[in-house]
Amino acid sequence: MIDNSALEKFRATVRGAVLCPDQDGYDVARTIPNAMIDRRPAIIARCTGAADVIACVRFAREHDLLVSIRGGGHSVAGKSVCDGGLMVDLSTMKGIRVDPTRRTAQAETGLTLGEFDRETQAFGLATTLGVVSRTGIAGLTLGGGWGHMHARYGLAVDNVISADVVTADDRLLTANANENADLFWGLRGGSGNFGIVTSLEYRLYERGPVLGGAVFHPT
Ligand SMILES: Cc1cc2nc3c(=O)[nH]c(=O)nc-3n(C[C@H](O)[C@H](O)[C@H](O)COP(=O)(O)OP(=O)(O)OC[C@H]3O[C@@H](n4cnc5c(N)ncnc54)[C@H](O)[C@@H]3O)c2cc1C
Repeated sequence: MIDNSALEKFRATVRGAVLCPDQDGYDVARTIPNAMIDRRPAIIARCTGAADVIACVRFAREHDLLVSIRGGGHSVAGKSVCDGGLMVDLSTMKGIRVDPTRRTAQAETGLTLGEFDRETQAFGLATTLGVVSRTGIAGLTLGGGWGHMHARYGLAVDNVISADVVTADDRLLTANANENADLFWGLRGGSGNFGIVTSLEYRLYERGPVLGGAVFHPT
C-alpha cells in the first residue's frame, strides 16, 4: 500500500498522467493488444520524457514496487503490464529526429514501427525493424528485432548506434561503442534487463516504399 501523501508527491514530480484504479483513462492505459492479459497495476505513469522515467525508477525503488515497462505493448505474454506494481508507460513518448545527412534517426521509445517508418520515409530512408507496424520499436529492438530487410542489413539491434537508458539507480546514461560500452553490449539483446531505454539512435539506409504481398493470376 502506498499512502496518499507519497502518491501526491510522486504525481507532482511527473509531467505525464499518473493513473490509479477507478481513474479515467486507467483501463485504457492497462489494455494491450493481447486481450487475454487482464492485469491491474497499482499505478500507471504515462511518461513524457526521461525525467519522468527517472522519477518512476526512484519512486519504485523507494517503495519497493514491482515495475513493468510498456513500449508498444506487443509482448504476447503481457510483460508490459504488472499486477499491483508500477507500470512505466512510454507509449506517449513519440519524438523522432531524422538526420538525412548522417542517415540516422534519434527516436523515443514509445514509437511503433509504423510511426518510425513514416518519419524516415519522408527522407526516403529506412532501417530494418519488424513486420507488424503496431509493434513497439523498443521491445522489438532490445530483443534483437527480425524484419523484412534483415538479409541485407541484419537485425534491428545491429543498427543501433546509441541508447539513452535510465538504470536501476535512477541515472540517465548514454550507451554506445565509446561510452558505457559494456552496458551497450548488454542492451543489444538483453531486452528490459539493464534499465529503461528512453531513446535509441538508429542507422538508416536509402530505401523507398517496398511493395509486398501475394500475387494472384487468373486460371
Ligand atoms: C503481432 C506481433 C508481431 C511481431 N513481429 C515481430 C517481428 O516481425 N520481428 C521481431 O523481431 N519481433 C516481432 N514480434 C515480437 C516483438 O518484437 C516483441 O514482443 C517485443 O517485445 C514487442 O515490443 P513492444 O515494445 O511492443 O512490447 P512491450 O510489450 O511494450 O514490451 C515488452 C518488453 O520489452 C521490454 N521493453 C519495452 N520497452 C522497453 C524500454 N524502453 N526499455 C527497456 N525495456 C523495454 C520490457 O521488458 C517489456 O516488458 C512480434 C510480436 C507480435 C505480437
